[in-house]
Amino acid sequence: MEPDDWIALGTGIAGLATGAGAIFYAHRSVGVARESEATARKVARVALEQEHDRLFPPQPDSLPARTTDRQQLFVTLRMPRTYTARVLVDDGSGGLRQVRGLMTLRANEDVQVVVEHMPPDRAEMLTRAVVLKLWPPLDGGWTCECGRESADEHGGGAWPEHWLWRAPVTRRAKPAVH
Ligand SMILES: [Zn+2]
Repeated sequence: MEPDDWIALGTGIAGLATGAGAIFYAHRSVGVARESEATARKVARVALEQEHDRLFPPQPDSLPARTTDRQQLFVTLRMPRTYTARVLVDDGSGGLRQVRGLMTLRANEDVQVVVEHMPPDRAEMLTRAVVLKLWPPLDGGWTCECGRESADEHGGGAWPEHWLWRAPVTRRAKPAVH
């Protein structure tokens, strides 16, 4: 029965004082039940958001970049759990440049990603930060129930991320020559 039904019923038998009292009490109980339902929903939502935050991998203060002998500047990524990811680079041009399309970052495995071509005659790198668009892994294993985006292997580069991860890149000093 909806609360309005209770009111209608209450009006119909208003002459019966005890009956009206019982109905008033029943009406209140419906209200209390709904309030606790809403509270339970809020508590569940807070728990989902806390879990969402917990599943966001730590963002280091600095991600060291190194060069290979093939003049490529790369960084090493290592995630505490498996994610589906896209790797983008902030090179100070105002936008983000994708350097790796949809890929899997496996739990506790080092993944080297080339972020920039670095000819020997250029001392300064352009890369300022590595930005990861992250999702719970496409191939399962675990998920986040918060309701934000899932990865889609057919999604374009603009597909909304579940988490946006960012770490400033620093150039690792070349070893001293003796
Ligand atoms: Zn989430």
